[in-house]
Amino acid sequence: IGDGVVRVDALGRVESMNPVAERLLGRRVEEVAGVTLDEVYRRVDETTAKPLASLVSLCLAQRRRVESTERCLLLRGDGEERVVQESAAPVFDRDGALAGAVLVVRDVTRLTGMEREVSYFATHDPLTGLLHRRELERRLARHLAAGGGRGGALVHLDLDEFRVVNDLCGHNAGDELLREVAERLFEAVGDAGVVARMGADEFGVLLPRASAAEGRRRAEELRLAVGGRRFLWREHSFDVRASVGVVTLGASAGEPPQVITAAEAACLAAKERGRDRVHEYRPHDRELAQRHGEMQWIHRIHRAFDEDRFCLHRQPIRPLAGGVEENFSEVLIRMRDNDGRLVAPGAFIPAAERYHLIPQIDRWVVRTALAGLAAEGDGACLALNVSGLSLSDERFLDDVLAAIETSGVDPRRLCFEITETAAVAHLARAHRFMAVLRAQGCRFVLDDFGSGLSSFAYLKNLPVDFLKISGQFVRGIEENELQLALVRSIHQIGELMRMGTIAEGVETASALDALHEMGVHYAQGFWIGRPEPM
Ligand code: C2E
Ligand code: MG
Ligand code: MG
Repeated sequence: IGDGVVRVDALGRVESMNPVAERLLGRRVEEVAGVTLDEVYRRVDETTAKPLASLVSLCLAQRRRVESTERCLLLRGDGEERVVQESAAPVFDRDGALAGAVLVVRDVTRLTGMEREVSYFATHDPLTGLLHRRELERRLARHLAAGGGRGGALVHLDLDEFRVVNDLCGHNAGDELLREVAERLFEAVGDAGVVARMGADEFGVLLPRASAAEGRRRAEELRLAVGGRRFLWREHSFDVRASVGVVTLGASAGEPPQVITAAEAACLAAKERGRDRVHEYRPHDRELAQRHGEMQWIHRIHRAFDEDRFCLHRQPIRPLAGGVEENFSEVLIRMRDNDGRLVAPGAFIPAAERYHLIPQIDRWVVRTALAGLAAEGDGACLALNVSGLSLSDERFLDDVLAAIETSGVDPRRLCFEITETAAVAHLARAHRFMAVLRAQGCRFVLDDFGSGLSSFAYLKNLPVDFLKISGQFVRGIEENELQLALVRSIHQIGELMRMGTIAEGVETASALDALHEMGVHYAQGFWIGRPEPM
């Protein structure tokens, strides 16, 4: 028998138990025989931690089989806790008199652990307790399969200015804001539908029974529910607002991913039209969004891959005093347009990040740059940009390691540029990525240093080899005392931490002079050399 079995007499005193019960109670039968079971068998409600009434006493009093209904936590004498399910049945003698009871205890600790994970975290977002994106997609699929013609609506909300809260007050504040918003949405929706967290600061609401008009009305209500209050954090206060997209689920709604994309597109349109408003998706909207919004890039990126229209440029990084790498350059990606023109990464990288295409792009860059480096012979050292999403993509690291191995290139000739926002947003993963590759000899550059707001606090914890001083401080440095002081102090911090410093965005001879004078180790910019095809 896998269950614990305890036999008690009519007064609830232990008569016998099997080895499983001995193990569960942490007592041997000789020790407890004749002792009232309640004294050695203590259980509390798993959620409230309140002691539970004795099931055996209940069974003896009612003379019938009873089962525990609460989630029951067994507290053993040695401090060990087990989650159990129990049932008790009366035992009668031949004359029909009550002779005692049998208690059966099943240890479900491991099971509930798994069950909890499967049923809860597989479907819920741990931060907000809302459903997560995949689960909403599943429910939407079920709804549509059951006859999308019945109607319903999908609402997509995106917080305006969530970034600001995160950057200004830190991630705790950001998390708190998300929890607050989640709660407001949850309340506002009530039993009219389900709420899910769709992305960092994006939420989805499925309203299965709403008519088109009600969907619109609800979307407006949700916007007001989110925007109705101020968010306070220490001395800061923020007006929280959301841009909202809504799609009516008619007969021709399409597949769940398309419906979600449509709601996102409508939300994007709301953002483009000035934020803090509701925009309803209509079929012709798709063209509109594709023409103007980021979404067109999904298709263009896929096509660029298919038609091999990405290419790499490189820009020299020149050593000044204290710089040791003689042949150092940064690799920058470009997309060749249909008519042969080059598209700068600023145009497609935000969309690629938003739609999770960036790891694929970064992989391609790593492979292509390594092939170029292998062909070039010794000496050259390349810096590759890596997006935060790639850092947190499990397989990306493996692919980079494999690509290095295949190319036969010395890993010491490779640097990875990460931005501090990316590194900070994915700190744990970034650490692993950096640790593994640094062990191989690769180096790391903290790109655009100074442009985020939490730079100095995080710098201590990020194992980088170079600080790249953001071009926004370097451009025009020769005419601005404040910039001069900023760059000087960043350089000094870099020296203190034994990091190389690189100034990017050097556009004039006098800027270069100023940087040289203060001892910055490397300079990069149009004055030194423009990006050229690799
Ligand atoms: P970044 O890494 O900070 O790259 C520097 C950008 O500044 C490049 O723009 C470069 O062309 C430009 N630049 C260089 N010198 C000067 C100068 O003197 N003045 C001015 N005004 N600009 C200068 P680009 O190539 O358009 O790249 C923009 C950003 O796109 C990069 O910023 C980087 O964050 C991202 N990026 C580029 N290639 C890749 C890539 O392969 N993967 C990823 N994930 N991101 C990339
Ligand atoms: Mg860079
Ligand atoms: Mg940069």
